[in-house]
Amino acid sequence: MLGGAGAGFVSMVNPDQNRAGPAWWFAFREERLLTRSTAEGTELPFEEDLERLGLAPGRTIYLGCLDGRDCFAAALPTDASTPDGFAFLGLRALFGNLPEDLLAVAGRATQVLTWDRTHRFCGQCGAPTEPVPGERAMRCSGCSHLAYPRLSPAVIVQVTRGEEILLARGKNFAEGMYSTPAGFVEPGETLEEAVAREINEELGITVANIRYFGSQPWPFPHQLMVGFTAQWAGGEMRIDETELADARWFTRDSMPNLPSPISISRRLIDAYLRGDGSR
Ligand SMILES: [Zn+2]
Repeated sequence: MLGGAGAGFVSMVNPDQNRAGPAWWFAFREERLLTRSTAEGTELPFEEDLERLGLAPGRTIYLGCLDGRDCFAAALPTDASTPDGFAFLGLRALFGNLPEDLLAVAGRATQVLTWDRTHRFCGQCGAPTEPVPGERAMRCSGCSHLAYPRLSPAVIVQVTRGEEILLARGKNFAEGMYSTPAGFVEPGETLEEAVAREINEELGITVANIRYFGSQPWPFPHQLMVGFTAQWAGGEMRIDETELADARWFTRDSMPNLPSPISISRRLIDAYLRGDGSR
């Protein structure tokens, strides 16, 4: 699951000088991660450097330590060849195949690489940027403007009305699948205000008793999903057709196809199915 980087991960900007030897390599060619399939399952390269695999990364960024082992993110050229026995796979394809702690660091790696790739020049004056020593930040060489990794908070909500739950279909969802409604937080809003506004804008109803449920990093490309529960307080459903294909009230014995168990959406729905507020 992408639920945080796990207890064994320590985020750091610079490697410990005393540590050397093999490290985990989170090497991406565009949005796909270099992996190796073995009889035991899917593995990541654990090497001193990627040159051993015949790869020359365009950019390498130190991420920190997982259970005492160094972790590096690497951006490979788009025309990088695939080493024998390896494959490049999207993160979604790795859910359930790669250990959760490695998958969480992979989510962090792709977000840091995307930020690095898209912040090489200053957004204010256009001069080149350079990494700030000891910080996950880029500073402009011209005007000293600072840029930090980008995160886009989004709220995702379990809305219930008595024994029913409100689930919606986005326009590009898989056939028959419904999920808990979600939307991005706007500048100046509290998370609770974002919940009330999104539900009202997209579904035409008002909600009450908005309560925090849990959160999940979602690196597609840089969302932080913040889960809430809420109860219907009034209004008839009227969906925003520019955003949604459909939305309905469901009961426990009439559920549609549901999102992947790795998603916070599914955790919100499973909590409803269990009939409690636990995660
Ligand atoms: Zn600048």
